[in-house]
Amino acid sequence: MQTNDSGYNPLDDIDRVLVDEDTIKNRLKELGQEITETYAGRDVAVIAIINGAIIFVADLIRELNIPLQLDCVRISSYSDDMKPVQTPEVIDKVRLDLKDMDVLVIDDILDSGNTLARVTEMFRAMGPASLKTCVLLDKKTTRTVDFEADFVGFKIPDEFVVGYGLDFAERYRQLPCIGVLRPELQNPPEWG
Ligand code: 5GP
Ligand code: MG
Ligand code: MG
Repeated sequence: MQTNDSGYNPLDDIDRVLVDEDTIKNRLKELGQEITETYAGRDVAVIAIINGAIIFVADLIRELNIPLQLDCVRISSYSDDMKPVQTPEVIDKVRLDLKDMDVLVIDDILDSGNTLARVTEMFRAMGPASLKTCVLLDKKTTRTVDFEADFVGFKIPDEFVVGYGLDFAERYRQLPCIGVLRPELQNPPEWG
């Protein structure tokens, strides 16, 4: 008999689940409908900020009944840990021509707002017909720049979360839910 059990389960490292798999699935259907209605009759350039948005965008675009093109940009806003850098760096640029396009930028989570503020500023300079943003998660209380997303999956408290594309040191992206790591697996407290 074949088995797909190696004894490793990333869920074992999770202390608390904040958003479970079914809740994500149901919310994605609603978001998909909202976005489809917003862009009905238009042709959309969907730009995913990877790696974090990779699972979210893969599931979300399959809920969209509109013509779309997909591209990705890669930004470094965290190093390889939980410590944010102040100025996100664009490592890999968009290849689609965004001039006169309806552009929808997708990220995993809106925290300080630095990443999306920076990315949307960059895209706006490319002359899109419209520019909107969509995030799976929104930490409402942690903004350092004035930025709000047009489409939000869930508002969450100010905790470092992993799963459904969000990582800790590139791990835990494969978790089907959003959760908080067990305290002993988080980094030492000298980072505040
Ligand atoms: P911002 O630039 O808005 O401060 O942060 C956005 C980026 O920081 C996200 O795209 C994500 O990569 C990272 N980030 C912010 N909060 C969290 C979190 O709680 N968990 C993880 N894994 N990444 C986060
Ligand atoms: Mg990110
Ligand atoms: Mg990350």
